[in-house]
Amino acid sequence: MIVREVLQRSASWLRDKGFESARLEAELLLAHLLGLDRVTLYTQADRPLDTGELERCRELLRRRAQGEPVAYLTGKREFYGLEFAVGPAVLVPRPETELLVDRARELRPARILDVGTGSGCIAVACAVRLPEAEVTATDLSAPALEIARENARRHGVAERVRFLEGDLFAPVAGERFDLVVSNPPYVADGDAAAVARHEPGSALFAGPRGLDVIARLLAAAPEHLAPGGTLLLEIGEDQADEVRALATGFGAVSVRPDLAGRPRVLEAAAPGPPHRAAS
Ligand code: GLN
Repeated sequence: MIVREVLQRSASWLRDKGFESARLEAELLLAHLLGLDRVTLYTQADRPLDTGELERCRELLRRRAQGEPVAYLTGKREFYGLEFAVGPAVLVPRPETELLVDRARELRPARILDVGTGSGCIAVACAVRLPEAEVTATDLSAPALEIARENARRHGVAERVRFLEGDLFAPVAGERFDLVVSNPPYVADGDAAAVARHEPGSALFAGPRGLDVIARLLAAAPEHLAPGGTLLLEIGEDQADEVRALATGFGAVSVRPDLAGRPRVLEAAAPGPPHRAAS
């Protein structure tokens, strides 16, 4: 069988299993298997696959059908135009999380803290796109930090990102930042769709309403914001009201919508008078 046929059959097999992005996923898996990128795959449409390659392709499709994310099967995922190493120790970076980096770039903070960095995607993308910034990233998970460090090296910012192991702000006691950013776990415990995704529970689940980690983060954040600083927090699309109610101890608080208009980012200013840059 040649690449073109394998792609067609793999895509229709995945589509029958209910995968919406079946064609794209088939391309990503086959490109990974053959060590090609997706574009090159098309220039090699007539390349035959040997029996070993076909067997490995079937195995990848089986694992995908059982719910393993494509990113775990290929070991990588694009985020903010950069390729990140990922694995089962970290959440797969999602496009909506790019909103946090977009906003960080507008704010132009000098000192950034990424709480619960996981793959490091937010910290590393901020370091790459804000070349003046000093970035600190914490995570409770040592295996996650290994991946995050690899991503910082991969993108040439290892010197400017400090990775620290520990719960939320514990590793940065007494420090303040111009921007505290986080994509914390915010899914309700036991959410069936999330459980099926094979991602680390500690990166997804946070109590009966998914608010336990956000509540702790909001309680501790004010004392880690420099004057004029900002907290940016990714939240679940149905959590805006509850999260606002928990966001006491700040200056102005707002919720920013994603491109589809869903409320996905809480923005909270440091307490105290607004900071004005000299003009
Ligand atoms: N966005 C993910 C989801 O919808 C959750 C990520 C998180 O909890 N931070 O499942």
